[in-house]
Amino acid sequence: MSIALNLGAGAPSEAESRNRSIKALVLDGERHLSFLDIDEPGPPAADEVQVVVKAVALNHIDVWGWRGMAFARRTLPIVVGAEAAGVVVACGSDVVGITAGDVVSLYGARTCGNCKACLAGRDNFCERMDNIYGFHIDGFLRERLNIPSRLAVKAPSGMDATCAALAPITFGTVEHMLFDNARLQAGETIVVHAGGSGIGSAAIQLAKAAGATVITTVGNDEKAQKALTLGADHAINYSTERFEGRVRKLTDRKGVDVVFEHVGPQTWQGSLLSMARGGRLVTCGSTTGIAAQTNLNLIYQMQLRIIGSFGCRIENMRTSLDKLSRGDARPVIDAKIGVERFSEALARLESRNVFGKIVVTL
Ligand SMILES: [Zn+2]
Repeated sequence: MSIALNLGAGAPSEAESRNRSIKALVLDGERHLSFLDIDEPGPPAADEVQVVVKAVALNHIDVWGWRGMAFARRTLPIVVGAEAAGVVVACGSDVVGITAGDVVSLYGARTCGNCKACLAGRDNFCERMDNIYGFHIDGFLRERLNIPSRLAVKAPSGMDATCAALAPITFGTVEHMLFDNARLQAGETIVVHAGGSGIGSAAIQLAKAAGATVITTVGNDEKAQKALTLGADHAINYSTERFEGRVRKLTDRKGVDVVFEHVGPQTWQGSLLSMARGGRLVTCGSTTGIAAQTNLNLIYQMQLRIIGSFGCRIENMRTSLDKLSRGDARPVIDAKIGVERFSEALARLESRNVFGKIVVTL
């Protein structure tokens, strides 16, 4: 795993492109990655752009894929990488609004663009949501690819690819959870679980920028300090303290308006006990397992709402890029690594020994 990706600056000449192959990082078995030579893409189709990939951010969906989740529904090897940004090097004849040289964020699923959901701008409800890059279909960890231009969102001028790479999942997912789904308002109080995770660190910042009071949970005191630096009003070390008890005290026993869940069984019951009457719990993941007990009395007596959230709308990426550009939030980078360290980084993400995002730069 020591082959460096050799990335040219522009599109190759016709002579160069004949028989040229490019490097890709592929998953070819459970917890096993290899470099593979794949065919370089031809010129983009009329509605496509060709993108040289510059940054790929790691997410738990990469860990799920690497552990073998849904292998039965996938054909291996599959190119990994679910969240990315790059530089446009060529545009098809019908593409408007994007030109060569632009930094673009790449939406994480090849949605159809034609179904009722896609036409309404709700791509994460597309009938073809079995087309997630790097999970169901070849992902972004390759030198270059062609992608429908509707899935490439232009970054504000001056933004680098590492920052732009965090719009599709890290910030987009959180934007969708907090504002489309949980309808978080200024003046409300929210619990953000795992404030040291990629989405947790994004949620602290976006909730704070929206005028909410933010209580976050973290696994150790060092992460608590960092979470406070990001803007959290309170940070609770859940390994030494029952967070729901502390949340009750911090809210005069009333509970919080919104809980941002993605941890699962380890926090689920405490999350429900942390909520105010009419509170909204929004969840996008379950990193500690999939089965948890739910006190049903609590759901109806407290009139709680539990909302599942997956991915985001393309518009959430645009909003995220704008917020990052104007400084409402900033990327929290745990490490920038070379592609040869991808496996090691997945193991670290699995162990949750991170603060913020691990990003592969190319
Ligand atoms: Zn669709």
